[in-house]
Amino acid sequence: MKAAKLISPGKLRVVEELPARAPRRGEAAVKVKAVGICGTDLHIFKEGRADVELPRVMGHELSGVVSALGDGVDHISVGDRVVLDPVMSCGTCRTCRAGHGNVCAGVKCFGVQMDGGFQEEIVVPAASLYRFPGQYSFIQAALAEPFSVAANILNRVSVEAGDFVVIMGAGTIGLSLVQGAKAAGAKVLISDIEELKLEKAREIGADYVVHSQKEDLGDIVRKYTETGADVVIDAVGTVKLTEQSLELAAPCGRIGVISFDARPAQIPAAAITRKELSLIGSRMNAHRFPDVIRWMEEGALNLDAMVSKIYPAEEIQKAFEETLGDSTTIKTIITF
Ligand SMILES: [Zn+2]
Ligand SMILES: [Zn+2]
Repeated sequence: MKAAKLISPGKLRVVEELPARAPRRGEAAVKVKAVGICGTDLHIFKEGRADVELPRVMGHELSGVVSALGDGVDHISVGDRVVLDPVMSCGTCRTCRAGHGNVCAGVKCFGVQMDGGFQEEIVVPAASLYRFPGQYSFIQAALAEPFSVAANILNRVSVEAGDFVVIMGAGTIGLSLVQGAKAAGAKVLISDIEELKLEKAREIGADYVVHSQKEDLGDIVRKYTETGADVVIDAVGTVKLTEQSLELAAPCGRIGVISFDARPAQIPAAAITRKELSLIGSRMNAHRFPDVIRWMEEGALNLDAMVSKIYPAEEIQKAFEETLGDSTTIKTIITF
């Protein structure tokens, strides 16, 4: 079978591998059909990462068809069209038992610390697979994973109908957040510095879009809210925006933090105290795939608007390079 491996930073190679092993008890084999390129993949491609051993088959946003089952699997069948929840945790520690496997000390992700989706076939725990509704293509379904990340954030910051939500950054996660927040009945304002991405945001239902280099985000938020935003989410992930979140939030506002920026943010404790703000972290997802499947069933998502480019697996090197070189790209999909 074909597998695209990251050999060294900047270098992917499509190689011929032995067929995938037979699934063991509780496992399933999946013939991969479509895989999204995530910011994480791009980052690892560019400069590697301490916890990623090379060579590595990246890719954690995948859809495909179940091709074989191990014993003891009854919720899916061979031939089912599925998406994978790529988060893998120990399942036994206190964190996992409480339902938070995504922050288990031993958490891993397919395509990051383990080989992932950029290969023709993959063997995974069957419990991590979810059937998606028949009217969707594999390419559309490959977006389920970023939407699970958005669903996790929205759940963590408790977005509800009537909330005013500010999202900074109109990339894949930002645009997924817009759609999830709209599905929850919130008003959504999104900012970015790419006109094209803001157009997309408008197309998928954002109530207000702000070009943050041409307009002052703080002024605009004050214009549309009485006291500030109920929820602020920095979907870019830089400390500057984390700092700015505190100013944009209303008293008792909730701030979603999903950044992996390791630099310290200048956040005065008094700013949190004065407005009784909550800073809430969110990482990957904790069992949020059922939310995404429900959104798909309800027709609440515009998936096509988020797919920028599609490449066959043989052109994966070009796909990574062109995605890195074009800041207007939202989601690039690799097909098998
Ligand atoms: Zn991702
Ligand atoms: Zn655990």
